[in-house]
Amino acid sequence: MSLELSKKAAAVKPSSTLAITAKAKELKAQGKDVVGFGAGEPDFDTPENICDAAIDAINNGFTKYTPASGIIELKEAVSKKFKKYNNIDYTPEQIVISNGGKHSLENIFTVLLNPGDEVIIPAPYWLSYTEIVKLAGGVPVIVKTSKEQEYKLTAEALCKAVTNKTKALILNTPNNPTGMVYTDNELRDIADIVIYKDFYVVADEMYETLTYDGHKHISIASLGKEIYDRTITCNGLAKSYAMTGWRIGYTGSPLQIARMMGSVQSHQTSNPNSIAQKAAVEALNGPQDSVSQMNEEFNKRRQYVYERICNMPFVSTIKPMGAFYVFVDASEVLGKTHKGETVGTVAKMAEILINEYNTAVVPCADFGFDDHLRLSYAISMEQIEKGLDRIEKFLKELK
Ligand code: PLP
Repeated sequence: MSLELSKKAAAVKPSSTLAITAKAKELKAQGKDVVGFGAGEPDFDTPENICDAAIDAINNGFTKYTPASGIIELKEAVSKKFKKYNNIDYTPEQIVISNGGKHSLENIFTVLLNPGDEVIIPAPYWLSYTEIVKLAGGVPVIVKTSKEQEYKLTAEALCKAVTNKTKALILNTPNNPTGMVYTDNELRDIADIVIYKDFYVVADEMYETLTYDGHKHISIASLGKEIYDRTITCNGLAKSYAMTGWRIGYTGSPLQIARMMGSVQSHQTSNPNSIAQKAAVEALNGPQDSVSQMNEEFNKRRQYVYERICNMPFVSTIKPMGAFYVFVDASEVLGKTHKGETVGTVAKMAEILINEYNTAVVPCADFGFDDHLRLSYAISMEQIEKGLDRIEKFLKELK
């Protein structure tokens, strides 16, 4: 067949993190003792009270279509959560429940963008942002940050990137892949530019419950009426409640945008899974002890990974403040040789690690930083120790 397929779809790169996770799983299935630092999902089970709520939903026959943008009970729970934890007032009408955070982002950009509209994305970034923006007809404008600035976007760099086509900025705090958390002052400086130049902020707060060492998550929409009016706050239950497979995300936004997202969703996917919505109500309204328990466990692992990386040759990192990733500067490794061959790229480094050391890491070229790696510590301490021993062995063998 010579019929041309969609140019937009052809321009989309497959997710390299999912590919690495799949490769690690495949090797494990072949009986190899693989350590996977690739996964972007908590290794904990979904808390029992949440699972029970889903079982009740099934037993009570809550298995039919729901309103497309979500059940009122869940919108009320989300609205209450926004008020209590984020200090933002979103009425239930301003909430849209979707099939995961990714889907929320897709809804947002479908509603915000016209062809050619620019979206500013600070690098490093979560690799799906650029692809979701392109699929919605937008143009990603990448603004590279630096290690000296803790990989955070500054107001000055933002200002320079704004053009008359700028429609939105994506701001992700706590950040994937860097683990950095923006402070109140940093957010206020960014908000000033957003208001002055007049565009939207898409605030991705997916990792909000995972902060450490007293770093506090702050929602940019809470900083005043003018920034609130320009912000779409995006979140979900995947990371905070170990609910990656349940696929529940949500947004709080100005009413007009919420209504448009609801209409789009009503044609594209209809409602998110009815049973998962009931489970999400329990997650948000029920006891929160499991969230703090997971947080504590992640914190122990974070300290350990950080200290080990600091003591390894040729790599360095900044202590993560949130999420469950360590962002590793491997630029010095690239000029070294392994068994007589120059390493050259982080992709090559990742290939050597998986093939020769049975250890999966994420090379961050697709995250807009081509000399860094991401290690996820959402695996057991035992696995972390084993995997770090292997990475250290690899680094010590370099010439
Ligand atoms: N935003 C960030 C920064 C993420 O890392 C992820 C998942 O890895 C998502 C959004 C999407 O989460 P989900 O679609 O699983 O709810």
